[in-house]
Amino acid sequence: MKYAFIDGIKQEPFPKQKGICCLCGSPTSSKCGNVKVWHWGHKSSKKCDPWWENETAWHRLWKSYFNKDNQEVIHFDENTGEKHIADIKTNNGMVIEIQNSPISEDELRAREKFYGKMIWIINGENFKNNFHILEKLPRSNSKLFEDIVFEQGGITYHLKSDNFEYQEYLKLGKPDQDYHYMIEAHFLTDIREEIENNYIGHHQFDWKHKRTVWFNTKKPVFIDFGDNYLWWLKKYYKEEYRDLWCVQKISKDELIVKNGGEINKTI
Ligand SMILES: [Zn+2]
Repeated sequence: MKYAFIDGIKQEPFPKQKGICCLCGSPTSSKCGNVKVWHWGHKSSKKCDPWWENETAWHRLWKSYFNKDNQEVIHFDENTGEKHIADIKTNNGMVIEIQNSPISEDELRAREKFYGKMIWIINGENFKNNFHILEKLPRSNSKLFEDIVFEQGGITYHLKSDNFEYQEYLKLGKPDQDYHYMIEAHFLTDIREEIENNYIGHHQFDWKHKRTVWFNTKKPVFIDFGDNYLWWLKKYYKEEYRDLWCVQKISKDELIVKNGGEINKTI
């Protein structure tokens, strides 16, 4: 952990110090070596928060964007007595969980239920060579989006307006979701300009050996590849394409500022 109490004050570790764990109240001592980031460790090997993962420089960087009072905040369930340390909790009560290692679906569910209002930031550094950002996609409230019908998991598409047979079929008063009458198929590259005009960051992607747990969350998931952007993993929603996923590029700075942090904060 980055913080422990010394004389009742939340403090970062420095060499040869003793403190008290902010969560369980047991004695801790500072671990200030050359390999791991400086942290507080419990004297006994017991793990006080089963959800805690060993911290990396990446965790510390994310925490450093927020005020000390918003880092490692104890979240307490009054009904059950359960308590855990949220990596970041904003003044608006939003928990930001900074996740580096893989997580089980059970733990994911438990954490989402416990924190309620939360988002996930996951470290893409570990799988960035298996993650490829592909074609841009139009925003989902555009005319172009309404017109497109995807096939083969989004690789090819039809335009409703471009398909004479389909238009004839609709004139018979048939439902709008039988696409057998779509004859003309294209690649997304064919409508690059129209997509560009309706682009607000959505992309297709290819994730080899994908971590399926991140497709089963109820809370927003943002992937951090270590640059100025985050990639929001989300469904590219249309009722009939339940399985078409996309990522939306957003500004890391904006997300942090929106949650009361600051990216160039001096630590
Ligand atoms: Zn503890």
